[in-house]
Amino acid sequence: MNKTLTALAALAVALPVAAPAAANVPPNPPTLAEAADQALQSDQIAYLFVEALTTEVGPRQAGTEAEARAREWAVARLKQSGFKNVAVEPFMMDTWVPGDIARARVTAPFAQDLVVVPLGNSAATPVGGIEAEVVFFRTVDDLRAAPEGSLKGKIAYISHAMSRTQDGSQYGFAGPARWVGAGIAASKGAVATVIKSVGTDNHRNPHTGGTSFPEGVAAIPAGALSLPDAANLERMFARADGKPITMKLEMNPRQIGQTESGNVVGEIVGRDPSLPPVLLACHIDSWWNAPGAFDDGAGCGIIASAALNVSRSGQPLRTIRVLMAGAEEVGLFGSTAYSAAHPDERIAVGLESDFGADRIWRFDSNFRETNPALHKKIAAAVARFGVSSGNDVATGGADLNIVRDQKGALVDLQQDGTRYFDLHHTPDDTLDKIDIVQLRQNVAVWTQVVGILANEPAPILTGAPVPSAPPIM
Ligand SMILES: [Zn+2]
Repeated sequence: MNKTLTALAALAVALPVAAPAAANVPPNPPTLAEAADQALQSDQIAYLFVEALTTEVGPRQAGTEAEARAREWAVARLKQSGFKNVAVEPFMMDTWVPGDIARARVTAPFAQDLVVVPLGNSAATPVGGIEAEVVFFRTVDDLRAAPEGSLKGKIAYISHAMSRTQDGSQYGFAGPARWVGAGIAASKGAVATVIKSVGTDNHRNPHTGGTSFPEGVAAIPAGALSLPDAANLERMFARADGKPITMKLEMNPRQIGQTESGNVVGEIVGRDPSLPPVLLACHIDSWWNAPGAFDDGAGCGIIASAALNVSRSGQPLRTIRVLMAGAEEVGLFGSTAYSAAHPDERIAVGLESDFGADRIWRFDSNFRETNPALHKKIAAAVARFGVSSGNDVATGGADLNIVRDQKGALVDLQQDGTRYFDLHHTPDDTLDKIDIVQLRQNVAVWTQVVGILANEPAPILTGAPVPSAPPIM
């Protein structure tokens, strides 16, 4: 622990919660810009949020008692911090749990164990495991091209080539190996699938994440090998000389039926609550294998801190609502439930933080052409934090279904994703990975942007709505 963190930990004991919000605006409140600048220098709300969440709750898989504890924790935290109208909006979901056995072993010709984890929605193997020949596919498209029935009785191994990118775009390129690989293999007769983890690290930490099976295709066991283990398996193929490579796979995940999840909401109430609110989203769940510091404890800390910082500079015109969604990782169930539960409620603009804690480098909106004055005002206000104005149309994060369903206004504050996929969905997604200097830059940018949006009297999305892309997990 370095000195800054030691000092913060001491403060965490002395000051377990943030200063109360709007109720306690000091006599000489900072301007919005000053509040943002102060956040850049010294914000501690976001760090202490994720520090406490990862310490006091830890991993919080959707639909389990751990996620329920995370909701209770978030409710208490938001109330103590000065949020109003704090509530849980429960919903029911089909819940999958990973089990406690995940073993992969190459049995021939180079017998050795490989490190594997199940993918969300994976079926279990028979007790004692399943042993079969492995068929190597370099890409999902190669798998798609395999003849019908050609994988009968086989284990499909699916690779990909993913590199680090600032914008994380290679996730969209490599992700299908995980998202659809198992379903395609099952439809061609495979008895199981293992993929090369969708990630960019070089540790023996497999990356989990959800997979899916098409309608009418029964789930099969589906696992992810760590990147070095996948590389090892590929070296075996390179020197097996055509001899079959066989693997024994044993996993015991299961579907446990319907359980309760829920969304946590809270508000900084605006001066005119009749105006549509500004919606700030993150997700409170994580996979079972990580405390979810980057994904997405940091995002929840950033949005909570930004809302509180804006209120320090005076009560905003519009209500700022935070949505800490449940069950994002396993299928965006919280996002869907929130939209369904609020069919007639207009949202002024939606923003989400769910890409780690590294610095924001670009601002995109979906109103750059239809409301250029507001877009330019925000761009000018965040330039001093090193944030450029992008030409992309903002599509909103996974938990903003309600805004996409309304074809409403969206802002994307693009974070540096260079190291995000080293950690994503792995046991390595822990508090020590958070760089507090970069986290504070996030809070500063969010404070500035949310403050402008929450004090904007006119409708934010004017003119023709821009079509938005579907979210990815
Ligand atoms: Zn996430």
